[in-house]
Amino acid sequence: MEEVTKPVVLIVDDVAANIQVLAEALKADYRIRVASSGEDALRVARRAPQPDLILLDVMMPGMDGYEVCRRLKRDEDTQNIPVIFVTARDDAEDEEFGLNLGAVDYVVKPYHLPIVRARVRNHVLLKQKNDLLERLALIDGLTGIPNRRHFDERFDAEWRRAVRDGQSLALVIADVDRFKSFNDHYGHGAGDACLRTVARAMQLSLTRPGDMLARYGGEEFVVLLPDTDLEGAGQVAERMRRQVIVLNQPHVQSDIGVVTISLGYAALGSVQESQQMTPSMLLDKADAGLYQAKSGGRNRACCVVEE
Ligand code: GH3
Ligand code: MG
Ligand code: MG
Repeated sequence: MEEVTKPVVLIVDDVAANIQVLAEALKADYRIRVASSGEDALRVARRAPQPDLILLDVMMPGMDGYEVCRRLKRDEDTQNIPVIFVTARDDAEDEEFGLNLGAVDYVVKPYHLPIVRARVRNHVLLKQKNDLLERLALIDGLTGIPNRRHFDERFDAEWRRAVRDGQSLALVIADVDRFKSFNDHYGHGAGDACLRTVARAMQLSLTRPGDMLARYGGEEFVVLLPDTDLEGAGQVAERMRRQVIVLNQPHVQSDIGVVTISLGYAALGSVQESQQMTPSMLLDKADAGLYQAKSGGRNRACCVVEE
């Protein structure tokens, strides 16, 4: 049985016996995938679970290893997978050529299996560290939800998609009410714990897989709602408001005695509108709704309606 935690190594070679030797040497520590042609390798590399490393034979009929490597590095979905070339040609120029294509290493046949194993292990460890760093860079340390940078990236991508497909796109901004006095009264540690709980409650209000809740900064959160109109955004905002109230988190400075949030929301109304607007204008619009909610007495969701 395969352990799902084991890293995945893809072995590419047109000669089955070569695959066999490498697979035998690596199967105790890795989940092995195999491909017997360049085309096949590109397909397997894109399929989940994606390989953490590819051992790539250079000489293959049809698409050779160099071309496979070029294509892997060109494709955003596969460019971060380390490639080690495996070849019978121990010529310095070939090696230089391969490394310049973006391969991390070069193994020359006939190889010493313990060395191949050590190189594979080193490069897989590096890959895993890079993956972890990349993930951490997008996650807010306190709440564990996406951070502002992650949101900005997704917002940009969803914006372009909405404009291209003529779909709507909505935003909700949420801000914890009188949070400064919560901290003053209960302490900063309790404030941190409160933000975590509030984030979890808001996350529970989202139902579609494409929806994204992020911490925008301080006690402010933002939700990205692809393919959602103003009415839908209002419903999500209201659901979030109620989910936070039912947490029943005591707050002496709150009008109703528990922690509440205020929300503002906005949506791209039409294709014409999306062509005149920018992402930051939509954020400003949601923010104007939040301002209204705060000045209207807090613990409510508002949007700015134009005449
Ligand atoms: P309002 O209802 O108008 O939003 O009032 P408020 O007190 O919530 O707003 P204000 O912007 O004046 O204060 C926000 C407070 O949030 C101040 C800051 O100490 C607190 N805060 C921001 N980030 C964190 C955090 O990570 N942890 C904790 N514990 N508090 C935070
Ligand atoms: Mg606040
Ligand atoms: Mg604030």
